[in-house]
Amino acid sequence: MVRSLLICAQQMGSAIGRLLNGQGLAACLPQLRHASSHAENTNTFLREALNRLDYPEKLQNLLLTPRREMSVELVVQMDDGQIEVFNAYRVQHNNARGPYKGGLRYHPQVDLDDVRSLASLMTWKTAVMDIPYGGAKGGVTVDPRKLSERELEKMTRKLVVAIKEIIGTYEDIPAPDMNTDAKVMAWFFDEYSKYKGFSPGVVTGKPVYLHGSLGREAATGRGTTFAIRELLKALHMGKLGDQNYVIQGFGNVGAWAAQLLWEAGGKVVAVSDVAGAIANENGLDIGALRRHMSSGKTLASFPDGAPLKKEDILAVPCDVLIPAAIGGVIGPEMAAKLQCKVVVEAANGPTTPEGDLVLRDRGITVLPDIYTNGGGVTVSFFEWVQNLQNFKWEEEDVNRKLDRKMTDAFNALWTVHREMAVPLRTAAFVVALQRVTRAEVHRGFD
Ligand code: NAD
Repeated sequence: MVRSLLICAQQMGSAIGRLLNGQGLAACLPQLRHASSHAENTNTFLREALNRLDYPEKLQNLLLTPRREMSVELVVQMDDGQIEVFNAYRVQHNNARGPYKGGLRYHPQVDLDDVRSLASLMTWKTAVMDIPYGGAKGGVTVDPRKLSERELEKMTRKLVVAIKEIIGTYEDIPAPDMNTDAKVMAWFFDEYSKYKGFSPGVVTGKPVYLHGSLGREAATGRGTTFAIRELLKALHMGKLGDQNYVIQGFGNVGAWAAQLLWEAGGKVVAVSDVAGAIANENGLDIGALRRHMSSGKTLASFPDGAPLKKEDILAVPCDVLIPAAIGGVIGPEMAAKLQCKVVVEAANGPTTPEGDLVLRDRGITVLPDIYTNGGGVTVSFFEWVQNLQNFKWEEEDVNRKLDRKMTDAFNALWTVHREMAVPLRTAAFVVALQRVTRAEVHRGFD
Protein backbone atom coordinates (compact mmCIF):
# COMPACT_ATOMS: atom_id res chain seq x y z
CA MET A 1 0.00 0.00 0.00
CA VAL A 2 2.72 2.45 1.06
CA ARG A 3 4.82 1.57 -1.99
CA SER A 4 1.96 2.03 -4.41
CA LEU A 5 1.01 5.33 -2.84
CA LEU A 6 4.58 6.52 -3.23
CA ILE A 7 4.44 5.52 -6.85
CA CYS A 8 1.24 7.44 -7.20
CA ALA A 9 2.93 10.43 -5.57
CA GLN A 10 5.59 10.30 -8.28
CA GLN A 11 2.93 10.02 -10.92
CA MET A 12 1.11 13.04 -9.55
CA GLY A 13 3.69 15.55 -10.67
CA SER A 14 3.23 14.78 -14.32
CA ALA A 15 -0.30 13.53 -14.30
CA ILE A 16 -2.28 16.13 -12.33
CA GLY A 17 -4.10 18.34 -14.70
CA ARG A 18 -4.25 15.88 -17.59
CA LEU A 19 -7.77 15.62 -18.87
CA LEU A 20 -9.48 12.29 -19.23
CA ASN A 21 -11.36 12.41 -22.50
CA GLY A 22 -15.10 12.63 -22.31
CA GLN A 23 -15.43 12.22 -18.56
CA GLY A 24 -17.36 15.28 -17.54
CA LEU A 25 -20.36 15.78 -15.29
CA ALA A 26 -22.70 13.96 -17.69
CA ALA A 27 -20.53 10.84 -17.34
CA CYS A 28 -20.91 11.00 -13.55
CA LEU A 29 -24.65 11.46 -13.63
CA PRO A 30 -26.04 8.03 -14.60
CA GLN A 31 -24.69 6.34 -11.47
CA LEU A 32 -26.46 9.00 -9.45
CA ARG A 33 -29.71 9.28 -11.38
CA HIS A 34 -31.59 8.94 -8.13
CA ALA A 35 -29.43 11.49 -6.37
CA SER A 36 -31.61 13.75 -4.35
CA SER A 37 -29.68 14.91 -1.31
CA HIS A 38 -27.16 17.68 -1.16
CA ALA A 39 -24.64 15.06 -0.06
CA GLU A 40 -25.10 12.97 -3.19
CA ASN A 41 -25.02 16.05 -5.40
CA THR A 42 -21.71 17.13 -3.86
CA ASN A 43 -20.25 13.69 -4.49
CA THR A 44 -21.29 13.90 -8.15
CA PHE A 45 -19.40 17.17 -8.53
CA LEU A 46 -16.41 15.80 -6.61
CA ARG A 47 -16.29 12.71 -8.81
CA GLU A 48 -16.28 14.92 -11.91
CA ALA A 49 -13.16 16.67 -10.60
CA LEU A 50 -11.54 13.35 -9.74
CA ASN A 51 -12.20 12.22 -13.30
CA ARG A 52 -10.14 15.18 -14.50
CA LEU A 53 -7.20 14.17 -12.34
CA ASP A 54 -5.17 11.15 -13.24
CA TYR A 55 -5.16 9.72 -9.70
CA PRO A 56 -4.84 5.99 -9.10
CA GLU A 57 -7.83 4.31 -7.52
CA LYS A 58 -6.07 3.73 -4.18
CA LEU A 59 -5.32 7.41 -3.84
CA GLN A 60 -8.89 8.29 -4.77
CA ASN A 61 -10.18 5.92 -2.09
CA LEU A 62 -7.82 7.39 0.47
CA LEU A 63 -9.09 10.88 -0.33
CA LEU A 64 -12.72 9.88 -0.20
CA THR A 65 -12.68 7.75 2.95
CA PRO A 66 -13.16 9.37 6.37
CA ARG A 67 -10.37 8.78 8.89
CA ARG A 68 -12.69 8.26 11.84
CA GLU A 69 -16.40 8.02 12.50
CA MET A 70 -17.86 8.14 15.97
CA SER A 71 -21.47 7.32 16.86
CA VAL A 72 -22.68 7.92 20.37
CA GLU A 73 -25.96 7.91 22.25
CA LEU A 74 -26.82 10.88 24.43
CA VAL A 75 -29.06 9.99 27.35
CA VAL A 76 -30.85 13.08 28.61
CA GLN A 77 -33.37 13.48 31.40
CA MET A 78 -36.01 15.85 30.08
CA ASP A 79 -37.80 18.55 32.07
CA ASP A 80 -40.76 16.22 32.73
CA GLY A 81 -38.46 13.55 34.20
CA GLN A 82 -38.65 11.27 31.14
CA ILE A 83 -35.43 9.84 29.67
CA GLU A 84 -34.70 10.51 25.97
CA VAL A 85 -31.89 9.02 23.91
CA PHE A 86 -30.44 11.01 20.99
CA ASN A 87 -28.11 9.60 18.33
CA ALA A 88 -25.06 11.77 17.67
CA TYR A 89 -22.17 11.55 15.25
CA ARG A 90 -18.78 13.09 14.63
CA VAL A 91 -17.05 12.21 11.38
CA GLN A 92 -13.43 13.24 10.84
CA HIS A 93 -12.78 13.08 7.15
CA ASN A 94 -9.23 14.28 6.54
CA ASN A 95 -6.57 16.10 8.57
CA ALA A 96 -3.64 16.13 6.15
CA ARG A 97 -3.63 19.95 6.03
CA GLY A 98 -4.39 20.62 9.71
CA PRO A 99 -6.82 19.87 12.55
CA TYR A 100 -10.26 18.61 11.61
CA LYS A 101 -12.79 21.44 11.30
CA GLY A 102 -16.53 21.45 10.75
CA GLY A 103 -19.93 22.37 12.09
CA LEU A 104 -22.31 20.70 14.44
CA ARG A 105 -25.85 20.23 13.16
CA TYR A 106 -29.00 19.61 15.21
CA HIS A 107 -31.70 18.30 12.90
CA PRO A 108 -34.28 15.47 12.90
CA GLN A 109 -32.95 14.17 9.57
CA VAL A 110 -29.29 13.97 10.56
CA ASP A 111 -27.82 10.53 9.94
CA LEU A 112 -24.33 9.11 9.61
CA ASP A 113 -24.36 9.22 5.79
CA ASP A 114 -25.26 12.86 5.81
CA VAL A 115 -22.60 13.77 8.34
CA ARG A 116 -20.00 11.72 6.45
CA SER A 117 -20.60 13.59 3.25
CA LEU A 118 -20.69 17.01 4.93
CA ALA A 119 -17.38 16.18 6.61
CA SER A 120 -15.85 15.49 3.20
CA LEU A 121 -17.21 18.78 1.89
CA MET A 122 -15.42 20.61 4.72
CA THR A 123 -12.11 19.03 3.68
CA TRP A 124 -12.54 20.53 0.21
CA LYS A 125 -13.85 23.88 1.45
CA THR A 126 -10.94 24.49 3.85
CA ALA A 127 -8.53 23.45 1.08
CA VAL A 128 -10.09 25.84 -1.49
CA MET A 129 -9.81 28.66 1.06
CA ASP A 130 -6.26 27.51 1.88
CA ILE A 131 -6.77 27.63 5.62
CA PRO A 132 -4.74 25.09 7.61
CA TYR A 133 -7.56 22.75 8.53
CA GLY A 134 -8.96 19.45 7.44
CA GLY A 135 -12.63 18.53 7.33
CA ALA A 136 -15.11 17.12 9.84
CA LYS A 137 -18.79 17.36 10.70
CA GLY A 138 -20.99 16.49 13.62
CA GLY A 139 -24.68 16.08 14.12
CA VAL A 140 -27.38 15.08 16.55
CA THR A 141 -30.64 13.56 15.35
CA VAL A 142 -32.99 15.90 17.15
CA ASP A 143 -35.65 18.48 16.45
CA PRO A 144 -34.34 21.29 18.66
CA ARG A 145 -37.65 23.15 18.45
CA LYS A 146 -39.16 20.40 20.59
CA LEU A 147 -36.59 20.85 23.40
CA SER A 148 -36.55 23.49 26.08
CA GLU A 149 -33.40 25.59 26.36
CA ARG A 150 -32.41 23.65 29.48
CA GLU A 151 -32.83 20.32 27.66
CA LEU A 152 -30.81 21.61 24.72
CA GLU A 153 -28.02 22.68 27.04
CA LYS A 154 -27.99 19.30 28.82
CA MET A 155 -27.88 17.48 25.49
CA THR A 156 -25.02 19.67 24.26
CA ARG A 157 -23.01 19.09 27.42
CA LYS A 158 -23.60 15.31 27.13
CA LEU A 159 -22.32 15.50 23.57
CA VAL A 160 -19.13 17.22 24.70
CA VAL A 161 -18.52 14.54 27.34
CA ALA A 162 -19.13 11.79 24.75
CA ILE A 163 -16.74 13.13 22.10
CA LYS A 164 -14.21 15.06 24.19
CA GLU A 165 -11.38 12.59 23.58
CA ILE A 166 -11.44 13.04 19.80
CA ILE A 167 -11.87 16.82 19.66
CA GLY A 168 -9.50 19.53 20.86
CA THR A 169 -7.89 22.84 19.98
CA TYR A 170 -5.31 21.11 17.77
CA GLU A 171 -7.38 17.99 17.01
CA ASP A 172 -10.87 18.83 15.85
CA ILE A 173 -12.66 22.16 16.18
CA PRO A 174 -16.48 22.18 15.88
CA ALA A 175 -18.51 25.25 14.87
CA PRO A 176 -22.16 26.24 14.45
CA ASP A 177 -24.23 24.75 11.65
CA MET A 178 -27.95 24.25 11.12
CA ASN A 179 -29.82 24.97 14.42
CA THR A 180 -26.69 25.51 16.49
CA ASP A 181 -25.56 29.02 17.33
CA ALA A 182 -23.16 31.06 19.45
CA LYS A 183 -25.00 30.04 22.62
CA VAL A 184 -24.53 26.33 21.86
CA MET A 185 -20.84 27.00 21.16
CA ALA A 186 -20.51 28.79 24.51
CA TRP A 187 -21.92 25.72 26.34
CA PHE A 188 -19.57 23.55 24.33
CA PHE A 189 -16.52 25.65 25.25
CA ASP A 190 -17.56 25.73 28.91
CA GLU A 191 -18.14 21.97 29.23
CA TYR A 192 -14.93 21.05 27.41
CA SER A 193 -12.93 23.47 29.60
CA LYS A 194 -14.22 21.69 32.72
CA TYR A 195 -12.40 18.53 31.62
CA LYS A 196 -9.39 19.92 29.76
CA GLY A 197 -8.80 23.37 31.23
CA PHE A 198 -9.46 26.76 29.64
CA SER A 199 -9.84 26.00 25.92
CA PRO A 200 -11.59 28.76 23.93
CA GLY A 201 -10.01 27.43 20.70
CA VAL A 202 -11.90 24.13 20.90
CA VAL A 203 -14.92 25.63 19.09
CA THR A 204 -15.49 28.64 16.87
CA GLY A 205 -18.58 30.75 16.35
CA LYS A 206 -18.64 31.71 20.01
CA PRO A 207 -20.28 34.97 21.17
CA VAL A 208 -18.05 37.99 20.55
CA TYR A 209 -18.01 38.72 24.31
CA LEU A 210 -16.87 35.13 25.00
CA HIS A 211 -13.77 34.71 22.79
CA GLY A 212 -15.66 35.03 19.51
CA SER A 213 -14.36 37.16 16.62
CA LEU A 214 -15.52 40.55 15.47
CA GLY A 215 -16.70 40.27 11.87
CA ARG A 216 -17.79 36.62 12.15
CA GLU A 217 -21.53 37.36 11.89
CA ALA A 218 -21.18 39.17 8.54
CA ALA A 219 -18.31 37.02 7.27
CA THR A 220 -20.17 34.74 4.86
CA GLY A 221 -22.16 37.59 3.28
CA ARG A 222 -19.05 39.77 3.14
CA GLY A 223 -17.00 36.96 1.64
CA THR A 224 -19.73 36.51 -0.97
CA THR A 225 -19.41 40.15 -2.05
CA PHE A 226 -15.61 39.83 -2.33
CA ALA A 227 -16.17 36.71 -4.43
CA ILE A 228 -18.60 38.54 -6.72
CA ARG A 229 -16.18 41.47 -7.08
CA GLU A 230 -13.41 39.13 -8.25
CA LEU A 231 -15.69 37.24 -10.63
CA LEU A 232 -16.96 40.47 -12.22
CA LYS A 233 -13.38 41.60 -12.70
CA ALA A 234 -12.38 38.30 -14.32
CA LEU A 235 -15.42 38.35 -16.62
CA HIS A 236 -14.89 42.05 -17.50
CA MET A 237 -18.39 42.81 -16.26
CA GLY A 238 -17.49 45.96 -14.34
CA LYS A 239 -17.87 46.76 -10.66
CA LEU A 240 -20.20 45.68 -7.85
CA GLY A 241 -22.06 48.98 -8.19
CA ASP A 242 -22.78 48.42 -11.90
CA GLN A 243 -24.95 45.33 -11.39
CA ASN A 244 -28.52 44.30 -10.64
CA TYR A 245 -28.88 41.59 -8.01
CA VAL A 246 -31.57 39.11 -7.02
CA ILE A 247 -31.17 37.35 -3.67
CA GLN A 248 -33.09 34.30 -2.47
CA GLY A 249 -32.98 34.13 1.33
CA PHE A 250 -32.75 37.10 3.66
CA GLY A 251 -31.19 35.50 6.73
CA ASN A 252 -27.63 35.90 7.94
CA VAL A 253 -25.94 35.40 4.56
CA GLY A 254 -28.56 36.92 2.24
CA ALA A 255 -29.20 40.05 4.32
CA TRP A 256 -25.50 40.80 4.84
CA ALA A 257 -24.72 40.26 1.16
CA ALA A 258 -27.67 42.51 0.22
CA GLN A 259 -26.54 45.22 2.62
CA LEU A 260 -22.93 45.23 1.39
CA LEU A 261 -23.86 45.12 -2.30
CA TRP A 262 -26.33 47.97 -1.77
CA GLU A 263 -23.68 49.97 0.11
CA ALA A 264 -21.34 49.40 -2.87
CA GLY A 265 -23.95 51.04 -5.13
CA GLY A 266 -25.47 47.84 -6.56
CA LYS A 267 -29.19 47.58 -7.26
CA VAL A 268 -30.87 44.75 -5.35
CA VAL A 269 -34.01 44.37 -7.47
CA ALA A 270 -35.67 41.42 -5.68
CA VAL A 271 -35.28 39.49 -2.42
CA SER A 272 -37.21 36.66 -0.80
CA ASP A 273 -37.44 34.66 2.39
CA VAL A 274 -39.35 31.54 3.42
CA ALA A 275 -42.62 33.48 3.60
CA GLY A 276 -42.59 35.82 0.61
CA ALA A 277 -40.75 37.92 -1.96
CA ILE A 278 -40.61 41.56 -3.06
CA ALA A 279 -39.24 43.35 -6.12
CA ASN A 280 -38.42 46.89 -7.15
CA GLU A 281 -36.78 47.40 -10.53
CA ASN A 282 -35.23 50.65 -9.34
CA GLY A 283 -33.53 48.83 -6.50
CA LEU A 284 -34.74 48.14 -2.95
CA ASP A 285 -33.55 50.36 -0.10
CA ILE A 286 -31.84 47.54 1.84
CA GLY A 287 -31.10 49.71 4.87
CA ALA A 288 -34.81 50.55 5.17
CA LEU A 289 -35.80 46.92 4.57
CA ARG A 290 -33.52 45.69 7.36
CA ARG A 291 -34.89 48.32 9.73
CA HIS A 292 -38.42 47.29 8.71
CA MET A 293 -37.67 43.65 9.50
CA SER A 294 -35.83 44.31 12.74
CA SER A 295 -38.99 46.02 14.01
CA GLY A 296 -40.70 42.63 13.72
CA LYS A 297 -42.44 43.15 10.37
CA THR A 298 -42.36 40.65 7.51
CA LEU A 299 -40.22 41.01 4.42
CA ALA A 300 -43.31 40.77 2.18
CA SER A 301 -44.95 43.74 3.92
CA PHE A 302 -42.13 46.16 3.02
CA PRO A 303 -43.96 49.11 1.42
CA ASP A 304 -41.35 50.02 -1.21
CA GLY A 305 -41.36 46.62 -2.89
CA ALA A 306 -44.01 45.01 -5.08
CA PRO A 307 -45.05 41.59 -3.81
CA LEU A 308 -43.91 38.64 -5.88
CA LYS A 309 -44.56 34.91 -5.61
CA LYS A 310 -41.53 33.53 -3.74
CA GLU A 311 -41.35 30.64 -6.24
CA ASP A 312 -40.68 33.22 -9.00
CA ILE A 313 -37.72 34.95 -7.36
CA LEU A 314 -35.00 32.99 -9.15
CA ALA A 315 -36.42 33.85 -12.58
CA VAL A 316 -36.41 37.64 -12.02
CA PRO A 317 -34.11 39.25 -14.64
CA CYS A 318 -30.78 40.43 -13.19
CA ASP A 319 -27.04 40.38 -13.73
CA VAL A 320 -26.14 38.39 -10.61
CA LEU A 321 -28.42 35.81 -8.99
CA ILE A 322 -27.54 34.86 -5.41
CA PRO A 323 -29.26 31.82 -3.93
CA ALA A 324 -28.67 32.29 -0.19
CA ALA A 325 -31.33 30.08 1.37
CA ILE A 326 -31.57 26.32 0.95
CA GLY A 327 -30.14 23.56 -1.22
CA GLY A 328 -31.53 22.02 -4.41
CA VAL A 329 -33.45 25.08 -5.65
CA ILE A 330 -31.91 25.18 -9.16
CA GLY A 331 -32.87 21.92 -10.80
CA PRO A 332 -33.10 21.51 -14.60
CA GLU A 333 -36.51 23.19 -14.94
CA MET A 334 -35.57 26.22 -12.90
CA ALA A 335 -32.16 26.42 -14.60
CA ALA A 336 -33.96 26.79 -17.94
CA LYS A 337 -35.92 29.77 -16.57
CA LEU A 338 -33.10 31.83 -15.06
CA GLN A 339 -32.55 35.28 -16.57
CA CYS A 340 -29.17 36.17 -15.13
CA LYS A 341 -25.57 36.31 -16.34
CA VAL A 342 -24.00 34.62 -13.34
CA VAL A 343 -25.16 32.50 -10.39
CA VAL A 344 -23.26 33.02 -7.15
CA GLU A 345 -23.91 30.14 -4.77
CA ALA A 346 -23.95 31.67 -1.29
CA ALA A 347 -26.15 28.81 0.00
CA ASN A 348 -24.80 25.30 0.28
CA GLY A 349 -25.80 23.12 -2.66
CA PRO A 350 -28.40 25.34 -4.39
CA THR A 351 -27.74 23.82 -7.83
CA THR A 352 -28.34 20.14 -8.59
CA PRO A 353 -26.00 18.32 -11.00
CA GLU A 354 -28.82 18.22 -13.59
CA GLY A 355 -29.46 21.95 -13.12
CA ASP A 356 -25.74 22.60 -13.45
CA LEU A 357 -25.69 20.89 -16.85
CA VAL A 358 -28.49 23.16 -18.09
CA LEU A 359 -26.65 26.26 -16.86
CA ARG A 360 -23.48 25.12 -18.62
CA ASP A 361 -25.41 24.63 -21.85
CA ARG A 362 -26.91 28.10 -21.49
CA GLY A 363 -23.50 29.69 -20.87
CA ILE A 364 -24.45 30.96 -17.41
CA THR A 365 -21.37 31.12 -15.16
CA VAL A 366 -21.73 29.53 -11.73
CA LEU A 367 -19.50 30.53 -8.83
CA PRO A 368 -19.60 27.41 -6.63
CA ASP A 369 -20.61 27.17 -2.98
CA ILE A 370 -17.39 25.56 -1.75
CA TYR A 371 -15.66 28.82 -2.61
CA THR A 372 -18.40 31.50 -2.42
CA ASN A 373 -19.51 30.83 1.16
CA GLY A 374 -15.99 29.99 2.40
CA GLY A 375 -15.83 33.36 4.19
CA GLY A 376 -17.62 31.81 7.16
CA VAL A 377 -15.06 29.11 7.87
CA THR A 378 -12.26 31.55 7.07
CA VAL A 379 -13.30 33.93 9.84
CA SER A 380 -13.81 30.89 12.10
CA PHE A 381 -10.14 30.20 11.45
CA PHE A 382 -9.34 33.83 12.38
CA GLU A 383 -11.31 33.36 15.61
CA TRP A 384 -9.23 30.27 16.41
CA VAL A 385 -5.99 32.16 15.73
CA GLN A 386 -7.13 34.99 18.04
CA ASN A 387 -7.94 32.38 20.73
CA LEU A 388 -4.44 30.92 20.38
CA GLN A 389 -2.96 34.41 20.61
CA ASN A 390 -5.27 35.41 23.49
CA PHE A 391 -5.80 38.61 21.57
CA LYS A 392 -8.70 40.35 19.81
CA TRP A 393 -8.26 41.73 16.31
CA GLU A 394 -9.97 44.90 15.11
CA GLU A 395 -12.95 44.27 12.83
CA GLU A 396 -11.21 46.10 9.94
CA ASP A 397 -8.29 43.73 10.35
CA VAL A 398 -10.58 40.69 10.14
CA ASN A 399 -12.32 42.06 7.04
CA ARG A 400 -9.05 42.94 5.32
CA LYS A 401 -7.63 39.46 5.92
CA LEU A 402 -10.89 37.90 4.72
CA ASP A 403 -10.67 39.95 1.52
CA ARG A 404 -7.15 38.67 0.93
CA LYS A 405 -8.21 35.03 1.45
CA MET A 406 -11.23 35.32 -0.85
CA THR A 407 -9.15 37.03 -3.55
CA ASP A 408 -6.30 34.51 -3.41
CA ALA A 409 -8.71 31.57 -3.50
CA PHE A 410 -10.51 33.08 -6.49
CA ASN A 411 -7.24 33.50 -8.36
CA ALA A 412 -6.34 29.86 -7.72
CA LEU A 413 -9.60 28.51 -9.05
CA TRP A 414 -9.72 30.94 -11.96
CA THR A 415 -6.26 29.77 -13.04
CA VAL A 416 -7.35 26.11 -13.07
CA HIS A 417 -10.60 27.07 -14.80
CA ARG A 418 -8.60 28.67 -17.62
CA GLU A 419 -5.76 26.16 -17.85
CA MET A 420 -7.91 23.02 -17.72
CA ALA A 421 -10.92 24.53 -19.53
CA VAL A 422 -13.28 23.26 -16.83
CA PRO A 423 -16.22 25.00 -15.11
CA LEU A 424 -15.40 27.00 -11.98
CA ARG A 425 -17.02 24.35 -9.80
CA THR A 426 -14.81 21.60 -11.16
CA ALA A 427 -11.84 23.95 -10.87
CA ALA A 428 -12.60 24.52 -7.18
CA PHE A 429 -12.69 20.78 -6.47
CA VAL A 430 -9.51 20.25 -8.52
CA VAL A 431 -7.68 22.94 -6.51
CA ALA A 432 -8.87 21.36 -3.27
CA LEU A 433 -8.00 17.81 -4.30
CA GLN A 434 -4.53 18.86 -5.39
CA ARG A 435 -3.84 20.69 -2.12
CA VAL A 436 -5.02 17.81 0.05
CA THR A 437 -3.15 15.25 -2.05
CA ARG A 438 0.06 17.26 -1.87
CA ALA A 439 -0.22 17.40 1.91
CA GLU A 440 -0.98 13.67 2.17
CA VAL A 441 1.95 12.71 -0.02
CA HIS A 442 4.48 15.04 1.57
CA ARG A 443 3.56 13.93 5.08
CA GLY A 444 4.08 10.34 4.01
CA PHE A 445 2.30 7.19 5.01
CA ASP A 446 4.54 5.55 7.63
P1 NAD B 1 -30.55 31.70 7.95
O1 NAD B 1 -31.37 30.68 8.64
O2 NAD B 1 -30.05 32.88 8.70
O3 NAD B 1 -31.38 32.31 6.71
C1 NAD B 1 -31.99 31.51 5.74
C2 NAD B 1 -32.92 32.39 4.92
O4 NAD B 1 -33.48 31.60 3.88
C3 NAD B 1 -34.09 32.97 5.70
O5 NAD B 1 -34.36 34.27 5.21
C4 NAD B 1 -35.23 32.04 5.35
O6 NAD B 1 -36.50 32.66 5.50
C5 NAD B 1 -34.89 31.76 3.90
N1 NAD B 1 -35.52 30.56 3.37
C6 NAD B 1 -35.65 29.36 3.95
N2 NAD B 1 -36.32 28.54 3.12
C7 NAD B 1 -36.60 29.25 2.02
C8 NAD B 1 -37.28 28.97 0.82
N3 NAD B 1 -37.82 27.78 0.61
N4 NAD B 1 -37.37 29.95 -0.11
C9 NAD B 1 -36.83 31.17 0.11
N5 NAD B 1 -36.18 31.49 1.22
C10 NAD B 1 -36.09 30.54 2.16
O7 NAD B 1 -29.38 30.90 7.25
P2 NAD B 1 -27.98 31.47 6.72
O8 NAD B 1 -26.98 31.31 7.80
O9 NAD B 1 -28.20 32.79 6.08
O10 NAD B 1 -27.62 30.36 5.62
C11 NAD B 1 -28.12 30.46 4.31
C12 NAD B 1 -27.38 29.46 3.45
O11 NAD B 1 -25.98 29.74 3.49
C13 NAD B 1 -27.51 28.01 3.88
O12 NAD B 1 -27.51 27.21 2.73
C14 NAD B 1 -26.25 27.76 4.69
O13 NAD B 1 -25.88 26.39 4.70
C15 NAD B 1 -25.25 28.59 3.89
N6 NAD B 1 -24.06 28.96 4.66
C16 NAD B 1 -24.16 29.78 5.74
C17 NAD B 1 -23.01 30.15 6.43
C18 NAD B 1 -23.06 31.09 7.60
O14 NAD B 1 -21.99 31.52 8.06
N7 NAD B 1 -24.24 31.48 8.10
C19 NAD B 1 -21.74 29.66 6.02
C20 NAD B 1 -21.68 28.82 4.90
C21 NAD B 1 -22.85 28.50 4.23
